[in-house]
Amino acid sequence: MSRILVVGAGIVGLSCAHALVQDGHSVAVLDRDPPGDKCSFGNAAGIGVTEIIPASVPGLAWKVPRWLFDPLGPLSVRIAHLPRLAPWLLRFLREGRWDRVETHTRALATLSARAYDDLLPLLGALDLMGDLHRVGCLWVYETREGFEADQRFHALRRRYGLVCDEMGGEEARRLEPALGPNARHAIMTPQWSHVSDPRRIVDRLRLHLEARGCPMIKGEATGITGQELVTGDGAPLPFDRLVIAAGAWSGRLAATLGDRALIESERGYNTTLPAPGVTLSREVIFAERAFVATPIEAGLRIGGAAEFAGLDAPPNYARSDALATLARRYLPGLKTEGGTRWMGHRPTTADSLPVIGRSPRRGDVFYAFGHGHTGLTFGPTTGRLIAELVAGRTTSLDITPFAIERFR
Ligand SMILES: Cc1cc2nc3c(=O)[nH]c(=O)nc-3n(C[C@H](O)[C@H](O)[C@H](O)COP(=O)(O)OP(=O)(O)OC[C@H]3O[C@@H](n4cnc5c(N)ncnc54)[C@H](O)[C@@H]3O)c2cc1C
Repeated sequence: MSRILVVGAGIVGLSCAHALVQDGHSVAVLDRDPPGDKCSFGNAAGIGVTEIIPASVPGLAWKVPRWLFDPLGPLSVRIAHLPRLAPWLLRFLREGRWDRVETHTRALATLSARAYDDLLPLLGALDLMGDLHRVGCLWVYETREGFEADQRFHALRRRYGLVCDEMGGEEARRLEPALGPNARHAIMTPQWSHVSDPRRIVDRLRLHLEARGCPMIKGEATGITGQELVTGDGAPLPFDRLVIAAGAWSGRLAATLGDRALIESERGYNTTLPAPGVTLSREVIFAERAFVATPIEAGLRIGGAAEFAGLDAPPNYARSDALATLARRYLPGLKTEGGTRWMGHRPTTADSLPVIGRSPRRGDVFYAFGHGHTGLTFGPTTGRLIAELVAGRTTSLDITPFAIERFR
């Protein structure tokens, strides 16, 4: 039985801890703020199993200038952050070739194929099966041009068994009567699902682990020396094995070992409207504008946006407001008053693949981070893979594409 320390109490770190505890290890989780409010708590609640296409695709670079100058646009970059962003951005742009897209899609599809196999037992263990709504997701398009431009990606998804059913605006409105006339074309992806409250999953998982003897330690990891994790504010913590699952902050910790990961905080925003005045029965993606609306327990959560401003800049909640305003284009009855605004740091790698595997420098350090837009979806599978690696078992899927060495 090894003494395993997991850094990070988000969905990925807790999923790793859960799988390791199930294997009989003695596990502890370290977090600056275990019950905190990081990415895993306020996300859009989607189990986005069709999200297997990387973000950098051919043609994207041409859209970027238009998005950057649109105050309601899906992308913003703070100029002061550009020098630090440059290496990530250059690699991101280099990944935007069709052959790279196909390679990365193949890798992400292996995670997608396993997602429910690992999520369902986890929800079952937490007594949260009733929180999973397997009702699909509707992608709506305002223009035929946007709809047709996405067909090559939906075709790629279909190659991996993901169902993408085309429909017109009328049929989409029959499914979701709150949609207005701007929803002219749609794609239904029935394998997608959503949960009632992503926060409840991490909260319940933390309590479940504590009840099984896995302590949550409050503290900040600052480095690794020998068999000890150095913490900024407390005594060093000894370990036999260490799992780094610190979300968007993981690159800093990997760097202390000399491992390089091109990971950035892709800051996302949302507004949760407790009384939206409209009802959706499933998650809706407004495809051309890259944002979503999900009916969760607390109301309608409208979220998206990609802001590159680093880990420390204060949030710009005007982006949350912009998304709520934009949503009225598609949901004419939407009432945007009384919403709660939130920002989270998506841990996003330059090639959209997570980092899952062993450090090439130390056999006792494991990486589990970089899940970008899909940490809730692929976190439980990552936990299983890390437990398999720690135990020396053959992993359930080929993890070579997720090795940190790809960023050397
Ligand atoms: C607007 C938005 C919508 C999203 N929607 C979805 C969705 O619908 N479906 C989906 O699957 N995903 C979604 N995501 C992405 C998903 O939320 C993330 O991929 C996921 O939460 C990442 O989990 P994590 O555990 O890696 O990181 P986090 O949740 O960020 O957790 C990392 C933890 O590590 C801790 N930590 C960091 N550094 C240290 C340190 N040095 N010492 C100690 N502790 C440390 C932090 O305090 C934090 O608690 C969305 C994200 C955003 C922003």
